[in-house]
Amino acid sequence: MTAQVEQLEFQAETRQLLELMIHSVYSEKDIFLRELISNASDALDKLRLESYRDKDLDVDTSDLHIELEVDQDNRTLTVRDNGIGMSRDEVIDLIGTLAKSGTAEVRKALAQAKDAAAPQELIGQFGIGFYSSFMVADKVTLVTRKAGEKHATRWESAGEATYTIETIDETPQGTSVTLHLKPEDPEDHLYDYTAEWKLRQIVKRYSDFIAWPIRMQVEKTKPAEEEGGEPVKTIETETLNSGKALWTRPKSDVSDEEYKEFYHHVSHAWDDPLEIIPLKAEGTFEYQALLFIPSTPPFDLFMREHKRGVQLYVKRVFIMDNCEELMPEYLRFVKGVVDAQDLSLNVSREILQQDRHLKMIQKRLVKKVLSTVKDMQANDPEKYKTFWGAFGKVLKEGLIGDYDNRDAILGVSSFESTNSSAGASEATGNLPAWTTLREYIARMKEGQEQIFYMTGETRQMVENSPHMEAFRSRGIEVLILTDPVDEMWVGSVPEFEGKKFQSIAKGTVDLDTEEEKKAAEAEREEQEKEYAGLLEWLKSTLDEHVKEVRLSTRLTDSPACLVGDTFDFTPMMEKMYRASGQQLPPMKRILELNPKHPLVSGLRAAHEARPDDAEVAQTAELLYGTALLAEGGELSDPAHFAKLLAGRLVKGL
Ligand code: ADP
Ligand code: MG
Repeated sequence: MTAQVEQLEFQAETRQLLELMIHSVYSEKDIFLRELISNASDALDKLRLESYRDKDLDVDTSDLHIELEVDQDNRTLTVRDNGIGMSRDEVIDLIGTLAKSGTAEVRKALAQAKDAAAPQELIGQFGIGFYSSFMVADKVTLVTRKAGEKHATRWESAGEATYTIETIDETPQGTSVTLHLKPEDPEDHLYDYTAEWKLRQIVKRYSDFIAWPIRMQVEKTKPAEEEGGEPVKTIETETLNSGKALWTRPKSDVSDEEYKEFYHHVSHAWDDPLEIIPLKAEGTFEYQALLFIPSTPPFDLFMREHKRGVQLYVKRVFIMDNCEELMPEYLRFVKGVVDAQDLSLNVSREILQQDRHLKMIQKRLVKKVLSTVKDMQANDPEKYKTFWGAFGKVLKEGLIGDYDNRDAILGVSSFESTNSSAGASEATGNLPAWTTLREYIARMKEGQEQIFYMTGETRQMVENSPHMEAFRSRGIEVLILTDPVDEMWVGSVPEFEGKKFQSIAKGTVDLDTEEEKKAAEAEREEQEKEYAGLLEWLKSTLDEHVKEVRLSTRLTDSPACLVGDTFDFTPMMEKMYRASGQQLPPMKRILELNPKHPLVSGLRAAHEARPDDAEVAQTAELLYGTALLAEGGELSDPAHFAKLLAGRLVKGL
């Protein structure tokens, strides 16, 4: 066949990334080798797996390995594997393009990276695997033949706008990546990637746990054979890594550095793990696990494409990435491996979904992760703070579906609160005004039976909402829930340690003690009578907007507010549903009036004096509009409201 060299362009983001790599001042250049070895190891895992699945696949799996080869004269370093390889299309897709889900995020980060010292962080954040080669090489050649295919593909790029690709013959199956190293810096021998000691050191440091042998030809000097003779130099093949699976070793035996590098390998992430959780189960169903809680959320944590789950191994053989059966959605940030003893090696996804043992393992892993977070909360507030900041929102999703662990999740959760001293607590470190539920309960006022909360879009909106007034004036603490997920769980979780959750924007509030109630009863009856006419009239005038009008016990400063019935949608929930494209009937709530406010008492007097006056009706509309604005709601006809208001302002001048 005639070889035809085609020149293709990198996608714009990829180009920017490459440029960044070429000019990188990233101090940890060594990690390029870790990335290439990690890819080679994945490719070997995939090939072994494929050969189990597809008995007709004609491949030799008897000596799967990774090889490093140095050419001193040409200053090249080659990383070779006899793994699964890539087809031509795969090379274009995988090497020429950035992962689709990440593109938008990378673009954003790249724009920001232009200034400042951000490139370093960018590299750290996105873990730009294969491309990291361009930190040390000014040209990279990749030759690959996919298992089962006849022709191979040769890809080459100098890391600029384009790459070349051609189809070639006569290539062993697998992939070799050849780095044409940048000229040696005479000042800096630490970065000579043709030096045997250097490669040895990097492999030991970053890739020792890799299960496949990583081999290199090394020069050995043996003592002279006869006395007085010259020492004998020979070339031997040496395996540089120990290949011990980390999860099979006792924790005391493994250094933090080793765990960290293993975490980088399994998670494809570049941050450091916050928690390392080894786990072992013996008995009828044996397995070992090694889990990690990352310290930084991945950029796609809330994207649909985000993959959850840990790696599944069976008797030390890699079976699959992202095994969803092992980790629930709300722990999708947990990374690691589970190595089960009693599963079949050619187990399929379909079988896994039914597997009772996997369900049991998942149960245990979930409990272990939650108890780890609990310990963190008790013993290391700083760490817990990092954890909660990174993954709190995700963890709370568990409150919606995981009934068995609901109390445990609530127990390790933190919430913002109106109590300004809450932040000083032990468990929440110095998060400003955050609290656990236990701490909230411990601070509850005498006679308080419920955990009060309010949901909203921002802390400020909630704090300034009229609903807060009575609580503030009585010094009753209210949880401020501003994560979208809060809307979803808080309505369906009935209680924590015997205390019910109660929204301060729903239902009626009853903060009075028995004595206060008695004292207020007479006044109350009086007001009810006094205002009966106004309430009825308002109900019919504002019928389009509200389903009921009543007197309030929750207001001290504001004239009016809107509240929902217990099972009504909150405004934020309504917004979320509408934003997701769902059809909803118009939601009407209850208008509550503060009879002590001059606007309300004045409106009553005006309505009694001039029941049919259009201006009085406009005041009612303005009153409703301000109540809506005060809670951060949106007017259905803002232009109309503005006109009414302007008219009134003119009159006041
Ligand atoms: P990641 O490993 O995080 O997916 P990389 O940039 O390191 O990102 O690699 C991109 C993709 O290219 C890999 O997911 C894999 O599909 C493919 N690839 C890279 N190196 C190899 C290799 N040696 N053998 C087979 N496929 C490879
Ligand atoms: Mg990789």
